[in-house]
Amino acid sequence: MTTKRVINFGAGPAKLPEEVMEQVQKEFLSYKNTGISVMEMSHRSADFAAIIDGAQKLLQELLKIPKNYKVLFMQGGGTGLFAAVAMNLMSRTGTADYIVTGSWSAKAAKEASKYGKVNMVIPKNDHYKSIPEPSSWKLDPNASYVYYCDNETVHGIEFPYVPDSKGVPLVSDMSSNFLTRPVDVSKFGVIFAGAQKNVGPAGVTLVIIREDLIGMALPICPIIFDFSVLAKDNSVHNTPPTFAIYVVGKILEWVHQNGGAAGMAELSRVKSSLMFKALDSSGGFYNCPVQEPFRSRTNVPFRIGQGNEELEKEFLAGASRLNMLQLKGHRSVGGIRASLYNAIRVDEVKALVAYMESFQKQHGK
Ligand SMILES: *Cc1c(COP(=O)(O)O)cnc(C)c1O
Repeated sequence: MTTKRVINFGAGPAKLPEEVMEQVQKEFLSYKNTGISVMEMSHRSADFAAIIDGAQKLLQELLKIPKNYKVLFMQGGGTGLFAAVAMNLMSRTGTADYIVTGSWSAKAAKEASKYGKVNMVIPKNDHYKSIPEPSSWKLDPNASYVYYCDNETVHGIEFPYVPDSKGVPLVSDMSSNFLTRPVDVSKFGVIFAGAQKNVGPAGVTLVIIREDLIGMALPICPIIFDFSVLAKDNSVHNTPPTFAIYVVGKILEWVHQNGGAAGMAELSRVKSSLMFKALDSSGGFYNCPVQEPFRSRTNVPFRIGQGNEELEKEFLAGASRLNMLQLKGHRSVGGIRASLYNAIRVDEVKALVAYMESFQKQHGK
């Protein structure tokens, strides 16, 4: 292939594996001799049923999802799920616990407050550099569910453990670290993830839900957000994002071929260690604001010095000349951020680290 490719460290939509993209390209005009593209295929056809069932089965296998859980493919992105979770689960007691550790869980808590009472489990703050000790959390035993974000994409904070929700159903937003490590699904009520960070193109959100939590949506819940409707109709109550689901299926196959969730965890460990080693051995030239052991393996934010915007601008321009793109930090925090999702290869991270070292030699002490 002669197509020009760059190193895309974007936070999402993000890089997908080249092998998968090439396969999709091969099947683009005619899927398995059907003479049509998946894009042109009825969502009620046998061919599409095989695609969606295949993706579900692969995910069940990859995360060892227990039998009493359903896999749903929803729309509205991660943000849609902020509302859907509350509209489906808040009805039990009218209140929910939110562990806010960054801007995505803060947004989720705000959205949920439209549908019930939100209890902030940890004191409100806006500097998000670590996660307070669980012994200091104020969990409400009467909560309908406990919500948290497993990996805060903007601030680069990842939970190194599964929070203990004391028997209350646990809901987790895993949008930016989904399938980057094995997870014990039986500890969760709901796991959801927008596909566009680790498992596919934008447009579909993967939802894993325990069956006993299905069927109690608030009466105001739109039908397309009602977990019971999606579960009953196997995610084809209305037209789902068919092409996105097809690509997700292909990515799941790729994950399977590359060692599954454990393989992805090892890859993540290697890539993020390279980055942290580069940051920590720079003698303060580069600084990651997040404290150990909460540093995200998939989103690594850092500053030059204590936030030298001039040098950061130069760093980004130099990276871009070397075809390393999308390294700018989120607009709300500034600085630099490297996202190391599953499709990012070790050699790509090594190229970034080499550039960081040469940039420091040129500009540092
Ligand atoms: C990107 C992201 C979202 C929002 O996803 P949308 O699909 O844009 O709504 C929510 N949570 C996390 C952790 C994310 O990284």
